Amino acid sequence: MQREKVIFIGHGSPMNIILDNEYTRSWQKLPELWGNPKGILAISAHWYINKTATTDVDTFKQIYDMYGFPKPIYEIEYTLKNDEALVSRIQDELGDSITINNEWGLDHGLWSVLVHALPEKNIPMAILSIDYKKSPEEHFALARKLRSYREEGYLILTSGNIVHNLRTADWNNPGLTPICQEFDDLVYDLIMKKEYEPLVNFEQLPNVKVSFPTPDHYIPFIYALGALYGDEKTVSFNRGGELASVSMTSYIFE
Ligand code: ZN
Repeated sequence: MQREKVIFIGHGSPMNIILDNEYTRSWQKLPELWGNPKGILAISAHWYINKTATTDVDTFKQIYDMYGFPKPIYEIEYTLKNDEALVSRIQDELGDSITINNEWGLDHGLWSVLVHALPEKNIPMAILSIDYKKSPEEHFALARKLRSYREEGYLILTSGNIVHNLRTADWNNPGLTPICQEFDDLVYDLIMKKEYEPLVNFEQLPNVKVSFPTPDHYIPFIYALGALYGDEKTVSFNRGGELASVSMTSYIFE
């Protein structure tokens, strides 16, 4: 079986749910890139809790975890089937270090993209939370344990943002501030050179606190890195950003 890809998506503002822009148009083309996986293992920045968890529901609850946006956003219904076979595999693999938590489901970090990328809703998915108590190395090591699923036909999809500072977000800035752009470019250069170690130990990177005061949206990127074998071709899309301090830069590793 052909090894499936790893994708990191910068999801950005929930407004992308209802907008037609360069980002959503490239999300619509994602199925051409990811081909025909039998399932997806997904990690979203927005399931950020004190444990590593998954769900064992039949069909995901849709989580409207964004506030103060236009009403049409809250009227969109989107869900997927849970991939129960993959959930069992993950439970076998991680044993006591993973719990079942059915309070969560598909949050907007996933469905804001999938509503464009997978309108047919025809690929099952398993979701994994981010345990905020884990160190970057521990997240990386956990992703290492999951990467062999790629050889069993599972796409690994992680969703966050490389630059994510809502404190400095500016709706009148359609791009990134120079410092945020510099950070996004630095990550791009390192990833293209396959220098993953400084990207995992991100606290040492220059301007990291300005680029993201909290690491929740960056950690999904570490899961993508941990799922790599190192021989992948790396392609970026949606390079750049919005709102002054939210990068949309996304990567596919094939
Ligand atoms: Zn987000």
